[in-house]
Amino acid sequence: MVNHLDRRPIVAGNWKMNTGPSDGAALAQQVIAHDLPENIDVVLCPPAVGLTSVAEAVRPSPVLVGAQHVHWELDGAFTGEISVSMVQEFVSYVIVGHSERRRGFGETNENVQRKVQTVHSAGLVPIIAVGESLEQRDDDRAHVVIRTQVESAIEMLTPDQTGESVIAYEPVWAIGTGRTASPEQAQEAVGWIRDTVGVVHGQDAAARVRIQYGGSVTPDNCADLFGRDGIDGALVGGASLDAGQFVAIVRAA
Ligand code: PEP
Repeated sequence: MVNHLDRRPIVAGNWKMNTGPSDGAALAQQVIAHDLPENIDVVLCPPAVGLTSVAEAVRPSPVLVGAQHVHWELDGAFTGEISVSMVQEFVSYVIVGHSERRRGFGETNENVQRKVQTVHSAGLVPIIAVGESLEQRDDDRAHVVIRTQVESAIEMLTPDQTGESVIAYEPVWAIGTGRTASPEQAQEAVGWIRDTVGVVHGQDAAARVRIQYGGSVTPDNCADLFGRDGIDGALVGGASLDAGQFVAIVRAA
């Protein structure tokens, strides 16, 4: 049986709609110029147009690349979309279900479920983002919202695929707001996520799945979050656009 010490921490930077091919490559070079700990997965997620240049920039290092988004189909008449088959040669991870896509682009739990399956079928690892809005938290519905999102996302996976996945607890009210969840709130939600994985796919999958926290993580607040059992790293937005801040978070993990 896997225990928490066997889970390799993972810190991913979600650059969102920032950086093009050249400045993305420059930022990646700044990140890899630092001494990075070896016992942690570091992932950079540039916009789609920067995937090739960032993948090239990090090639001499163990840093990995992730896509921010893919369609669930492999090809076809989907103007403006990209598929796993297009990004497969550059990336190891794909963020799925980020709240900015759920809210801004109408992505449903069903869409997330299909994408997670497609990402696994391509041999890539999904970073599945889940989390409640402020209204849902205030109404005491955070637990049920998170449980439903997780159940739906992993339902069609095998226990093995689930164990290999990464889930990011990202309370919507903490993303880009400067308002971080307290370590207690984050740990509680991460516990709900792991319990849900255990109910759906068993204790081994629950012990193996890596669960990040995301939402206004900075070098100043990350140590308290990483100090909590069950939090296996972070999905970092704003602070990942500054190589020094991002590396400080990586080192704290
Ligand atoms: C995110 O986009 O996943 C995120 C957590 O953003 P920020 O760190 O800026 O809150």
